Amino acid sequence: SFDSQPDPLASARETLRRVWGHGEFRGLQAPIVAEALAGRDVLAVLPTGGGKSVCYQIPSMLRSGVGLVVSPLIALMTDQVEALRQQGVAAARLDSGVGLDERSRIWAMAREGALDLLYVSPEGLFAGAMLERLKEIDLALIAIDEAHCVSQWGHDFRPDYRALGRLADQFPGVPRMAVTATADPRTRDDILQALRLENARVFVDSFARPNLQLSAERKATASRARTDQRVIELVSERRGRSGVVYCGSRDGAERLAEALKAAGVPAIAYHAGMEAAERERRLARFLAEDAAVMVATIAFGMGVDKPDVRFVIHADPPSSLEAYWQEVGRAGRDGEPAEAVTLYGPSDIAWSLRRLEGRPMDEAVRQVQARKARQLFAMLDGATCRPQAVRRYFGETDADRCGVCDLCLDPPARRDATVEAQKALAAVQRLGERFGRGRVVDHLLGRTKDVQDWEAGLSTWGVGANVDLSAWRDLIDHLLFEGLLVEDPNDGRPVLRLGEPDEVRAVYRGERRVETALRPVAAQAPV
Ligand code: ADP
Ligand code: ZN
Repeated sequence: SFDSQPDPLASARETLRRVWGHGEFRGLQAPIVAEALAGRDVLAVLPTGGGKSVCYQIPSMLRSGVGLVVSPLIALMTDQVEALRQQGVAAARLDSGVGLDERSRIWAMAREGALDLLYVSPEGLFAGAMLERLKEIDLALIAIDEAHCVSQWGHDFRPDYRALGRLADQFPGVPRMAVTATADPRTRDDILQALRLENARVFVDSFARPNLQLSAERKATASRARTDQRVIELVSERRGRSGVVYCGSRDGAERLAEALKAAGVPAIAYHAGMEAAERERRLARFLAEDAAVMVATIAFGMGVDKPDVRFVIHADPPSSLEAYWQEVGRAGRDGEPAEAVTLYGPSDIAWSLRRLEGRPMDEAVRQVQARKARQLFAMLDGATCRPQAVRRYFGETDADRCGVCDLCLDPPARRDATVEAQKALAAVQRLGERFGRGRVVDHLLGRTKDVQDWEAGLSTWGVGANVDLSAWRDLIDHLLFEGLLVEDPNDGRPVLRLGEPDEVRAVYRGERRVETALRPVAAQAPV
């Protein structure tokens, strides 16, 4: 009868305890593992640190055959395999760094059923005779890690991931599991389609991080020295605690690490320009020291599991809300209180967009990435509780206010600035998208020096004289963050241009409202 059936998760729990030393499954791990043990397809969306790996590792170990894990990051793969081996799990990886003898040994083990987990990269999977050889062995499961890479709606699209959809035909009857830490609803649908997981059960864990206190600050100026100084202040206020400072460039990371060291902080620079061995040494130091501060580019972080990181500071903002959530999520993995402070400025969004221009990619992908950058900046410069804004973006429509972010603790007064936004956009347009912000503000205020007839004759001339200079500057920054205006560098003489035509039109028509937080500087504006 049903009653006498053993708990299908009993041996899974036993494995979790014996191999990993964890007392219980947490979050959605148990139902995900149960689904995979039953041989069904799964898409699991769990936040960073949510424990995605055991979700496919345990079913791979318990089902007969080898669990094939497709992972895009060789470094991560190496670490995972090494850790599994030390825990007594029969795991191996096949990548370009593995020699011929080792390869034949791995295949022999796989054929004999002596291997639990086999890690491969997506390129490796489709190279040579890999697929043919895999067909000769018994597969327990196919896991696709970092599955958002398959989607051009994701923040980290990798064209070679697209081909993984073919696995559905190549290995019919082998259950597949896609896992990712970040997927908005659109990306999620795309993953299901591209990987042919139409019948998969989808598990989405909450992205709430209740122990994280988030805040963001507009940079006072575009000056690097000022930003560095602010970072030094922020880090000094947190002296004695371990943290990560993210920088947008290798130079920036080196410079800021030096400046922090000069201020007496045990800072360590880290970026992809360093030799692998050197990076290893620096990472080991960071992990070993209680109060070390890693000053790094995004090369740092993937697979780093330091539970007591107390703060993450972005000296330069990340590229998307997905990246933001992943990076701030490196703080407080032990569940104890942790903070994240993001510094951002108009030059940063210009930089983000410009960097996309310089990269070889499909135009459609570029536009998705540009929109993701704008959505990030709109959140940073917005007035909605930060975790709530991010979780809604991830599809958690019922996310509550966190109560502890800067915007919850000290809610800024909000103001409907749609009319001013219309005036500013119209001014940029009438001026022919040829001038920088100073000149546009002068035009709105009707105080352009030696104004010529053509300009004084425009309907937008002086149309904003009732609003204070600093409030105009503030609003123009906000329009840049929302992507309604774009700042074109124009060889060092930046000019303002209109953003996405559809979005600008919606503001003109009043269908899209522009709301700004009244910050101290803008609050001084006369009414
Ligand atoms: P992710 O890949 O989702 O970021 P990992 O699989 O690397 O997360 O797991 C993050 C950490 O959580 C690891 O140290 C892991 O051992 C730990 N962990 C996983 N499952 C559990 C559990 N059920 N109980 C306690 N710790 C767990
Ligand atoms: Zn909040």
